[in-house]
Amino acid sequence: MAKRTAAPHKSWLPEANKATADFPLTHLPYGAFDQDGQQHLCVAIGTHLLDLYACAESGLLPSNLVEACQAPVLNPLMGLGHRSWTLLRETLTALLHADEKPDRRQAAEAALHSIAGSTLGRPVHIPNYTDFYASIYHATRVGQLFRPEQPLLPNYKHLPIGYHGRASSIIPSGIPFFRPTGQSRPFAVEDAPNFQPTKALDYELELALYVGEPSLLGTPIPVSRAGQHLFGVSLLNDWSARDIQSWEYQPLGPLLSKNFATSISPWVTPMAALEPFRAPAPPRPSTDPKPLPYLHSIADQQHGSLNVKLEVLISTATMRTNKLEAYLLSKSNTQDLYWTPAQLIAHHTSNGCNLQVGDVLATGTISGPTEASAGCLLELTRNGAQPILLPTAETRTFLADGDEIILRGSCEAPGHPRISLGECRAAVLPARPLQP
Ligand code: CA
Repeated sequence: MAKRTAAPHKSWLPEANKATADFPLTHLPYGAFDQDGQQHLCVAIGTHLLDLYACAESGLLPSNLVEACQAPVLNPLMGLGHRSWTLLRETLTALLHADEKPDRRQAAEAALHSIAGSTLGRPVHIPNYTDFYASIYHATRVGQLFRPEQPLLPNYKHLPIGYHGRASSIIPSGIPFFRPTGQSRPFAVEDAPNFQPTKALDYELELALYVGEPSLLGTPIPVSRAGQHLFGVSLLNDWSARDIQSWEYQPLGPLLSKNFATSISPWVTPMAALEPFRAPAPPRPSTDPKPLPYLHSIADQQHGSLNVKLEVLISTATMRTNKLEAYLLSKSNTQDLYWTPAQLIAHHTSNGCNLQVGDVLATGTISGPTEASAGCLLELTRNGAQPILLPTAETRTFLADGDEIILRGSCEAPGHPRISLGECRAAVLPARPLQP
């Protein structure tokens, strides 16, 4: 590797050095794009993507990584383990650095494509999806709506609550989905339940944690090692049909109210890029129980959380017709989650459940302490009781057909270039007519 003389974070691609860049040299999130009908892996740099397949073809990558970098998904690379992840990241950082040798730089330039002109795909094959409930603010406010006498159930502060989601209906950002039809509570107990398009379609702002290092069946992962199993993060929208959910969820939890679609953002930010944005776990009031030993590690408490600033925006069909900007619904931060990513992994595997390469563990709705920082409409509108007024004079309790929800995430810390997780967006299509 060439000795660096330029600034440590400076790329030969000037756009990547701008303070406003989403994808500076320190980020290099992984993605996948369509290249003549074949899916190639890539990393984002500035407003471009670097084709890893082409880089491997040109001899720019270490020989032991060629096969994984020419796969259509990241799973083979994830399966190679930490040392390979680090080697690839170091290689790509040097390749795109301002001090790179001219011949290698030229070869890399030939593998660049504009992101705007590319079709991004799904970079990870996701075998399993688990959804947690790690925001105590979300859990408390939702609980207040349905159980004002006991908003937070007695188990909440002892274990990360979660359920198994559905991996098959995780869809890439940008793909619209049909409003689901399903059963909801009858008006009177003696009536038959309704079977109709949901009238309470909601979004949930979440962070997706990708498992890179698998675990063996029967072998719990200690919380002190749990973070090392994570490969990276994306934004995730766990669409929810609240009327279907409230009718079906007892006693086993949500099923059809959640598994019709889950949107995920195209870029996977590696954990290595998030190191400068680590944060301490939120302090627990002295009245809260201490986590049990299998969920407690001093290092994890000190810097196991993440400082990712999040935003949710809505763009209605009327707003798009009138060329209005998307409207900000809320802001929150992953730092406010009650449980850290390592605690989610330690808990998930504490009974011996095995993690597979590419599994997604989602945090659950990320809400903050204030009402304006709520990560879903159920909280923001108090289950539809307080409609939101939009700049078009439209109101929303839940989502209307044509609404598009946009999740954004970014990280900032003194002395480090800002990075952006990009966007996760999808629009609601009208329900499909029922077949007789
Ligand atoms: Ca959720």
